[in-house]
Amino acid sequence: MSGVLPLIYQCHCSLCRQVSGSSSNSALIIKESQFKWCTGEHQIKSFSTHSGFKSEFCSQCGSPVPNMSSSGESYWVPAGLLTEAVDTKVAAHVYVGSHANWDVGFVNDGIPQFETMPSEQDWLALSGK
Ligand SMILES: [Zn+2]
Repeated sequence: MSGVLPLIYQCHCSLCRQVSGSSSNSALIIKESQFKWCTGEHQIKSFSTHSGFKSEFCSQCGSPVPNMSSSGESYWVPAGLLTEAVDTKVAAHVYVGSHANWDVGFVNDGIPQFETMPSEQDWLALSGK
């Protein structure tokens, strides 16, 4: 990845919980032009649902990997893949309406919460744009 990194969101929906094996999925959306595969692209396997949810993972190690949006304009990047310190932060909890009942760590952390996905307008406001 290159350029300024956007804010990270944590999604608490049931599908993100399932594919991450945890309480939520932390990710960021970057422009297609900011992303380049270096190696291992041929090892990617894909899982998708009729609703459009898509998860891609490495068949070698099982890690979730970045995947391109349906428009081809951006990549969804799992934040846990970032191996170096980065200049961004978690800015929103999304799909808190379907969080696991045992997932309580985020409730009072002061980060904005959204029942589903924030509107583009809300997201831009969080980004200070
Ligand atoms: Zn989700």
